[in-house]
Amino acid sequence: MIWGAVYGDIIGSYYEVHSTKDYGFPFQGESAFTDDSVMTAAACAAITANPAPITPLGIKKRAREYAAQYKRFFSLFPNAGYGQMFSEWASSPEPYIQRSYANGGTMRVVPIGYAYDDLEQVMLQVKASCYYTHHTREAVNSAKAVAAAVWLARNGETKDAIKKFIEDNFHFELLASLDKIRADYKFDSRAKYSVPPAISAFLQSDGYESAVRLAVSLGGDADTMACIADGIAEAFYGEIPRHIAEFCALRLDKTIKDAVNSLCRLINSEEKMNAETEKDISKFFRKRVRERVLYLLNSKKRGELLDKLAHTAEDYIDTALTVKKSGNPLNPELIREKLGKTVYVIAANSPLDGKHAETDAALDELWSNGSPYMLCGNGYLYVEAEYDFSTHASWLLKRNDKL
Ligand SMILES: [Mg+2]
Repeated sequence: MIWGAVYGDIIGSYYEVHSTKDYGFPFQGESAFTDDSVMTAAACAAITANPAPITPLGIKKRAREYAAQYKRFFSLFPNAGYGQMFSEWASSPEPYIQRSYANGGTMRVVPIGYAYDDLEQVMLQVKASCYYTHHTREAVNSAKAVAAAVWLARNGETKDAIKKFIEDNFHFELLASLDKIRADYKFDSRAKYSVPPAISAFLQSDGYESAVRLAVSLGGDADTMACIADGIAEAFYGEIPRHIAEFCALRLDKTIKDAVNSLCRLINSEEKMNAETEKDISKFFRKRVRERVLYLLNSKKRGELLDKLAHTAEDYIDTALTVKKSGNPLNPELIREKLGKTVYVIAANSPLDGKHAETDAALDELWSNGSPYMLCGNGYLYVEAEYDFSTHASWLLKRNDKL
């Protein structure tokens, strides 16, 4: 995951300068990663540093975190081929809002399409990621279209469905074939000129390599267009040919590798945990527990998974009480009502994250009262009538620190 975008940038880099219309172009020894890879790595670093989902009210704060990573990575790789406007912005001591129409906001959103479970969150993160540098509807829509395409592709949607979603939501005209435009197509990094053909290159492709060849052989902004087309292509086809991975891996910097790998590891571990949680919870409910149940669905990120689990639970439990879901503070009164009763608590995020002091106090009271509980914290599930709360709590706290 994500490497598809970086490798597209590397293969296209030579042809950004020496443009070609030849689909069978050779890979060039002088190929190197450029700004597209550097900024993709910066986006990875921003998500790894703070993977928490946001609400619309949190966009500005999140935007500052993305901006800080763009500046940091720019300072590490100041000569990676940025546009002049971006270089000025990235060199300034304070971030200011720049209204660029170019494709630079789009080339770095592939990681966002991978990192979040729901599309609405992907769109919010994209908006934040564009806020300081590409503060125009054109650039934001282009970036949203590409992140949505990645998200839809990795969730198993067909090309027709991806095309329709982008056309309906972002009013792009996507082409079934690039042959009509290839002869006259020229370098232009404006988002509305370069992003739709890059997405079209993916739609017309029959594999990862074919997507990079179609994007580069348009003879335009080759590295960025290949980065976009192949970021989606990898999500759709699920693999990158080995000769391409080997060719590109030699041309990468360790800092970029590390940033991308860190996010890949985080995403993989979360996927694994989601699968484990689902398995454990269904196993638990198969025992047909008949108790009063208090659900604490305190997760935005795993809301969908937990909704599904809550429905599974209702098949088995007489009284299921959904107290809260979607990230709002838990209701301390409802928790206190359950004191002394058997209570099962399901929470995707630890209720002990320190954010909701009153709720935490109520839960402490509940737990110290000795109620058996089931706690599912950050993907792990505990089903124990006799439990050592302090062990679990410290484990969860440790885990939250890490995240
Ligand atoms: Mg570039």
